Amino acid sequence: MCGITGYIGKNNTALKTVIDGLESLEYRGYDSAGIAYLHNNQLNIVKEKGKIVNLKNKLDITTLSNMAIGHTRWATHGKPSKTNSHPHSVNKFSIVHNGIIENYLELKEELLKANYKLKSETDTEIACAYIDYLYKNEKNILKTLNKASKIFKGSYAFAIICLDDLNHLYALKKTSPLIIAKGKNENYIASDVPAILKYTNKYVLLDDYEIAKIGNDKIEIYDSNLKLINKKLLKFEGSLESSMKCEYESFMLKEIHEESKVFIDTINNYLDTDFKNIPNLTKYKEFHIVACGSAYHAGLVGKYLIENYANIPVNVEIASEYRYKKIFYNKKTLVILISQSGETADTLACLRKAKEEHIDTLSIVNVVGSSIARESKYIMYTKAGCEIAVATTKAYLSQITVLAIITMYLTKNINLNYKNLEKLIEKETNKDYKEIAKKINKSKNIFFIGRGIDYALCMEGALKLKEISYINACAYPAGELKHGTISLIEKDTPIIAISTDEKLLEKTISNIKEVKARGAKVIFITNSDIKSDFYDYLIKIPKTNSLFQSILTIIPLQIIAYEVAKSLGCDIDKPRNLAKSVTVE
Ligand code: GLU
Repeated sequence: MCGITGYIGKNNTALKTVIDGLESLEYRGYDSAGIAYLHNNQLNIVKEKGKIVNLKNKLDITTLSNMAIGHTRWATHGKPSKTNSHPHSVNKFSIVHNGIIENYLELKEELLKANYKLKSETDTEIACAYIDYLYKNEKNILKTLNKASKIFKGSYAFAIICLDDLNHLYALKKTSPLIIAKGKNENYIASDVPAILKYTNKYVLLDDYEIAKIGNDKIEIYDSNLKLINKKLLKFEGSLESSMKCEYESFMLKEIHEESKVFIDTINNYLDTDFKNIPNLTKYKEFHIVACGSAYHAGLVGKYLIENYANIPVNVEIASEYRYKKIFYNKKTLVILISQSGETADTLACLRKAKEEHIDTLSIVNVVGSSIARESKYIMYTKAGCEIAVATTKAYLSQITVLAIITMYLTKNINLNYKNLEKLIEKETNKDYKEIAKKINKSKNIFFIGRGIDYALCMEGALKLKEISYINACAYPAGELKHGTISLIEKDTPIIAISTDEKLLEKTISNIKEVKARGAKVIFITNSDIKSDFYDYLIKIPKTNSLFQSILTIIPLQIIAYEVAKSLGCDIDKPRNLAKSVTVE
C-alpha cells in the first residue's frame, strides 16, 4: 500500500536518496517508516513510528552508504509500532514489503517448527524468515526468491538485502507495484515513479513473479523460470513539477487548479477533426463499468451519459463486490475498468475475472504502463498527470471527461462545443467557498441530494468531504430522503442540493422545500436561473452541454470539501487511514 525505495550506487548517497524517495511517496499514507543501510560493510537498521521526520531525526543523512532500502508502512498485520515497522531482518536477509502475505499463518507454523524466533506481529517478518529458511537449502539467492514467489500467497512488493551479496539489491513482486529505475553509476527501487524523479526518469516496470538483481550499474531481470530477460526501459514523460507542490499550500489545491489543463489534455488526446485513439466500441451491446471509490462514482456518471445518449445499457459495480458475485456476461459485453493508479487490487481482480470468461476489457487509467492498463484489451488513458493528494480531484475529472468522450463517440457526435469549457473550468476552480465552509464545518452530518446525474455527483461530493474533513456526509437521490433519512434533519442540518437538469428542477425544488420546512440549511448548486429563494446559499454554475455539465458541477463540491477540511485544520493531502493506491483487497 505504501512506500518502498531502494538505492545502490557508487555515489554513496543511499541515505539521502532513500529518505527523499520516501518523502515523495508520503502522499500514499503511512504510519511508520524505516531504513536499512550499509555503512563500512555493516548493515544498520533504523525505524520509527509516525512520520518520516521522526526517522530522519534518528539519522545522519550525510553518512556515506552505497546501499539502502527504505519503507513507509501502512499497517495491515499488527499495530503501527517500532517493532512492527519495516525493514525486518532475519539472519542473512533484510526486507521491506508492501502488500499482504495471506498464507502467513501456515508459513509461521513451519518456521516455529524450524526454531525461528519472531519479534513482530507482521506477515512481513514471517516472509523474511521464510526466505532465510529457504535459502538455507537453496544456497542461491535467485533460486530462493523464485521459490518464495511461488509459495507466498497474496500480494507483495519486496526490496531485499542479503548479507551474502552486498554488491546487489534484490526485488520481487506480485500484484503490488514496483519499479526499478536506472541512474548514472546508481540504480533505484521504488513503488512509484515520483520517488525517483529527482534522479532519473528511466525505469523498468517489474511484472508479477519477476526478480530484479540490481548492481551499481547493471539491472538484471529474471522471469518466473529464472531466465534472464530483456525488459523495455520506460521514460516518464511528465515533469518533476507535476510531483511537486510548487507555490500551493497543498497538492489537492494545486490539482484542483490543474483541472482546466487536464480537461483539455484529455480532450486533445481523443478528439481532433475526428475521433482518435478510441477503440471500436460500437460492436458492444452492454457495458459493465467496474471500479472503487471515486472511480466508481465516475462510472455512475458514465452510466447516466451512455444510457441516456447512446442507448446502451450500463451496469456500474463496485469492484470488491463484482469480483465475488455471479455475473451474467454475453458475447457483446465490454467490461470497463476505471482506476487512477491502474493498480487497484480489487479492480485488477475483476479485469482478470472478465478475461477468464473471454470478455473484452477496456481500462480507463491514469498511470501509464500500470497493471490494469497492461492487462486489458483496450486502454484509454486519462491525462491527469501525477496526482499526489490522496483525495482525487483532477483524476476524477479526467475520468468523467473520458466517459463523456466515449458517449460522443458512440453517438457519433463530434460537433459538440467544448472549446469554451477550458476557460469555464478555470473560472470555477478559482472560486472561493470559505464563507460556506465556515457555515457548515461544525456539523456532524451533511447531506447531499440530487436527481439523475446530479445524484452521482452528490456521491462524489459526499465522499470528498468524508475523506478529508472526517464529517459524516451522505448522498441521497433527492426524492428518497423522505423515505427514512429525513428523520435526521433538524435545525441547521446542512443540505447540499444539486440540480443541473432542467427537466428535474421542479421536482428537486420540492424536495428542497421538504427539508427546508424541517429547518435544514440549504446550499443550492444549479445552472438554472432561479427566481424564488428557497435556499440559504446559492452557487450558480455555468450551463454547458449536458455531456460535459458534470465537469463544471463537481468543482464547487471539491472546493467546499477542501475549504471545510482546511478550516478544521485537517491534513488535506494525507487524510488519516487512507492510502492513495489501494493495492490490498
Ligand atoms: N502487511 C505488511 C505489514 O503490515 C505490509 C504493509 C504495507 O504494505 O505497508 O507490515
